[in-house]
Amino acid sequence: MSNNTNVRIYEYDAVIVGAGLAGLAAAKELTEAGKRTAVITKLHPLRSHSGAAQGGINAALGAEDSTELHEFDTVKGSDYLADQDAVELMCTKAPETIRWAEHMGAAFSRDAEGNIAIRPFGGQSKPRACYAKDRTGLAVLQAIYEQAFRAGIEVFDEWYVADLLYKNDKVYGVSAYNIRNSEPAIFNAKVVMFATGGHARAFRFNSNAHANTGDSLSIVARHGLPLEDMEFVQFHPSGLGGSGVLISEAARGEGGRLFNALGERFMTKYAPNAMELASRDVVSRAIMQEVREGRGVGKDKQSVNIDLTHLDPQIILTRLPELRELAIAFQGQDMLKEPIHISATAHYSMGGIPTTINCEVRKNPIQTVEGFYAAGECSCVSVHGANRLGANSVLEALLFGRHAGENMVKKLNEGIKLKKATKEDANQMLEEIRRIKTSNGNERVSALRAELQAGMTEKAGVFRTKISLEEQLSHINALLQRFKNIRIDDKSNTFNTDLQEAIELGHMLEFSKFIVYGALIREESRGAHFREDFPKRNDEKFLKHTYAYMDNEFNITHEWGDVVITKFEPKERSY
Ligand SMILES: Cc1cc2nc3c(=O)[nH]c(=O)nc-3n(C[C@H](O)[C@H](O)[C@H](O)COP(=O)(O)OP(=O)(O)OC[C@H]3O[C@@H](n4cnc5c(N)ncnc54)[C@H](O)[C@@H]3O)c2cc1C
Repeated sequence: MSNNTNVRIYEYDAVIVGAGLAGLAAAKELTEAGKRTAVITKLHPLRSHSGAAQGGINAALGAEDSTELHEFDTVKGSDYLADQDAVELMCTKAPETIRWAEHMGAAFSRDAEGNIAIRPFGGQSKPRACYAKDRTGLAVLQAIYEQAFRAGIEVFDEWYVADLLYKNDKVYGVSAYNIRNSEPAIFNAKVVMFATGGHARAFRFNSNAHANTGDSLSIVARHGLPLEDMEFVQFHPSGLGGSGVLISEAARGEGGRLFNALGERFMTKYAPNAMELASRDVVSRAIMQEVREGRGVGKDKQSVNIDLTHLDPQIILTRLPELRELAIAFQGQDMLKEPIHISATAHYSMGGIPTTINCEVRKNPIQTVEGFYAAGECSCVSVHGANRLGANSVLEALLFGRHAGENMVKKLNEGIKLKKATKEDANQMLEEIRRIKTSNGNERVSALRAELQAGMTEKAGVFRTKISLEEQLSHINALLQRFKNIRIDDKSNTFNTDLQEAIELGHMLEFSKFIVYGALIREESRGAHFREDFPKRNDEKFLKHTYAYMDNEFNITHEWGDVVITKFEPKERSY
């Protein structure tokens, strides 16, 4: 794979990278509108992380609920950093999106009257999480995959996208290689969409799938395009102690209570009204504070207990069966009989590739890039601001994925021209692969990754300070240097996971730098970002989106972008 003579060039109207909820929703729209669409994914579509979503998807369906209340909760949960026009679009379209998913065949759980059942989730003033037991993501992903398949989408699965074709303000495709045999190709298209999901694998304790390595973020950043609000990483309060595997918020939604080693229901101190259903940032900090002050449980005293034993066992068996299995499998703890150990786990990324409300990628806070779209967790349309409410992101992925699809159809109908790609457009990818395969140093990918992850959890995690962040920034700089000196053992062209993991580590190192840099310059605490040295929110200086840019030497600079405020003026949050 050292030269470009065997690069094949495919041509499509639209190319979508990622086959989770966002990618498939867009692909279905495009294909149904008669647009030739390729979906490229490094995994089989049904293995996308969307399929792991457990707890639910929000829509104001309850008799006492309203879309305006859903908007308010989302904006308040975001610590007022969400763009309120995008939030309004999401919340008003949510009920219709649930019906759309249901008509595609997603089998939601029902209440006694036969309506779609809804359950309470953290930070929401009414129950509004629709669910399919505790396998919501899988139910919706399967339904949309079947329907997209039926519509005729073309899927290139087990293909790895390594670069974006971007010149003169226009995106015209991607370069990728087939993971099975390393065959390189160019996917030339009139419009391109990134829907590559989350990136919490950068942290040691995380709830994410192995594939969630945030490749597209650094692919975009390497072209000088910005990333937005990267400092905002959500730590979910209930990862299984030790592994970080997720125990959905549904466990608290159904009535789970948190206790420390002294048997105190400690949320009375931190959020006396909302208690266990305060928003995730608040509960995560409360758990970590208990642990720090020596009231943790478990072998290393790094966890707290969640207790569901007071619930009717039928609730656990019918609404949380998967969670029970996970706790038994990973920890040998049966939630029917005993409390289980949990602690905060890196879970979700609020920041990402900045987009307009119509999912067009931004070149800076004001201009967009022609032909380029993004949606789902890799993007930042900013419906979550500084903190996402539970069950809002499956909604975001599905709804904005579909919205991106509709907007791409519109763009194609307006007659956007194909900018022809050439084989040379694969050179950057081929060079990256050659460099990794021939590098003959003494550093190991797994060791560098472990160092990065440990540092991110410890120094850029739930609690952050100037000192901890500066240490992590210089650690990442050192790791970036050491990365140049790696060696992989597998030099073959067949399912070369050594190669793929090395490429992915490069991405993780680069976008992690954005997380730490953003956390350092944001000298305030807002939502999921908590600076011990600046514990208060500072609207005067920081009611702004961070737009950060990287140069060829991995130096980062930034500018600020405006927050869209329409109905809800920023207020202090109380619990
Ligand atoms: C354990 C867990 C539970 C969750 N539970 C909930 C919940 O109950 N409710 C809720 O609202 N949210 C939940 N979330 C969050 C939510 O599931 C995700 O934010 C959402 O599903 C993301 O969808 P997506 O389409 O953006 O990305 P994903 O579903 O992650 O898909 C990403 C796609 O990109 C592809 N890809 C990535 N990089 C490349 C590359 N370089 N080349 C080719 N392909 C690539 C992958 O193969 C994959 O197909 C949960 C998340 C986790 C981890």
